[in-house]
Amino acid sequence: MSNRTLLRSGIIITAASTGESLEGADLLIEDGKIAAIGHDLSVADAEVIDVTGRIVLPGFVDTHRHTWQSVVRNVASDWSLTEYLAGLHTGLSQYFRPEDTYAGNYLGALEALDSGITTLVDWSHNLATPAHADAAVQALKDTGMRAVFAHGGGNKQWGAPLPSPNDHPAEDARRLRDTYFSDNTGLVTMALALRGPQFTQPEVNTRDFQLAADLDLRVTVHVGDGYWGKSGPIRKMHAEGLLSDRITYVHCCTLGDDELQMIADSGGTASVAPDVEMQMGHGYPATGRLLKHGIRPTFSIDVCSSNGGHMFGTMRTALGMQRALDNAPSVETGEVIERISLSCADVIQFATLDGAHAAGLDAVTGSLEVGKAADIVVLDDSPLGMIPMNNPFGAVVYNAHPGMVRDVFVAGKRVKKDGKLVGVDIPKLRALAQASRDHIVGEMPGAELGGNWHPELG
Ligand SMILES: [Zn+2]
Repeated sequence: MSNRTLLRSGIIITAASTGESLEGADLLIEDGKIAAIGHDLSVADAEVIDVTGRIVLPGFVDTHRHTWQSVVRNVASDWSLTEYLAGLHTGLSQYFRPEDTYAGNYLGALEALDSGITTLVDWSHNLATPAHADAAVQALKDTGMRAVFAHGGGNKQWGAPLPSPNDHPAEDARRLRDTYFSDNTGLVTMALALRGPQFTQPEVNTRDFQLAADLDLRVTVHVGDGYWGKSGPIRKMHAEGLLSDRITYVHCCTLGDDELQMIADSGGTASVAPDVEMQMGHGYPATGRLLKHGIRPTFSIDVCSSNGGHMFGTMRTALGMQRALDNAPSVETGEVIERISLSCADVIQFATLDGAHAAGLDAVTGSLEVGKAADIVVLDDSPLGMIPMNNPFGAVVYNAHPGMVRDVFVAGKRVKKDGKLVGVDIPKLRALAQASRDHIVGEMPGAELGGNWHPELG
C-alpha cells in the first residue's frame, strides 16, 4: 500500500510567513511528513484527496489546557476566580480517581483534535497519585494526537496554604521521565507545569526550577494573572537567574513592562488565554503588550470546565479584545485610525507556528513546510459562511468553527475523516465521561449540575 497521500488543489495557508496562502495548490504527504507543496504536482502511487476550494492549514497548537477538567465542562462557566478555586480547584478536583483523570484527558484531548488542534500542551495539575499521572499520559497516547504532558502535581502542591511550602513531586516527575519519556521524542513528550513564584515559597520555587533543569525538561508557569500577578514574579525569577528560553509564561496580563522585556530578552514564550482571563479577572489579555516587547503570543484554552475548547473561538476573542484595546484611545481623542494593526493572518500564526515554538516543537510542526510533520487541518467549503471564498484568513478566524473541520492529519495519519474522528467509539466515550462526571459531582457536597450552582466560599 502507498504511504503517500496527495491533497489536491486546496487553498493552503502555510502560516510560515504571515499572510501567505496558495490558491489551487497540492500538498504531498509521505512517511508522515510534508514532502512537497506546489501547483500540479505529478505524483504516482498516492492516495488522492480532492480538496478543491477547501482551506488547508496547519493543525492548531493549544499551549495550555487543564484537560482533566473536561468531564466537568461548563460547571464553571459563570464562576469568578474565587468560585473556581473553591468549587473546582480545591473542590471537585479532590474526587477525581485515576479513571476520571483518564476520562477527562481522553475526552478533552479528542475534543481538541476534533476541532483541529493537533498539538496540545496538557497542563496537568490534579495528579493526586502516580496512578493519576499514568492515566493522564495513557489517555494522551490513546488519542493519537501530538501532546506535551506538562506534569503539574496535585492538591498537595496547589491547595492551601499558598504560597506553598511543598515542593513539586520530584520523585514522580523523575519516574515519569524515566518510564515514558526517556528520550522525550515521539508524539507525546513531557514538560513540567510549575507553580512559580506567585504560588510557592521562594526556596520551593528555586528547587522546582532546579528539578526541571535536572530532568532536562521545558517549563510552563502561570504568571501575571490578576492582582497577585503584580507581585513581580518575573523580577524575582530574573534576580535568581531562572529565566530561560525553555519557559512558557501563561497569562502575563498584569506583568510590568520591565518584566515583559525580561521575558523577551531571555527568549521566553507566552500563552494568552483570553476567555478565562476576561472571565476570571486576570486583566486584559496581553496580546498587544507582548507584541510590543517582541514576544510572539500563543493561545490557550486554559479552564475547559468554563469555556469552550477550540481555537476558532479563542482566536476570535483575542483578536476582538485586542482590536477594542487598540481602538479605545481614538474613541476618546477623536483621532482617526486609518488601519488596524493586528490581522487575521497574525492570529492564525499565533495559533499555529508560534504555539509550536512555545511547545518546543517548531522544528516539527506548526506550519505547512516541506520536511515538517504532516499535522494538517482541512476545512469544509460547503457551509454558507464559506461562500464565496474571498479571504481565507478572515474565513478561518471569523467564520469557521469545529463543525467545519473536515479532515485532520497528525504526522500524516488521517485521524479525522470527512467530519468524523477515526477509530473513536463515541457512545462509549460518552458513557465513560458521564460516569466520571456522575461520580465526581455526586461526591462533592452541594455540587449541582444545570448552571445555577455557585460554590460556597470558605
Ligand atoms: Zn491555567
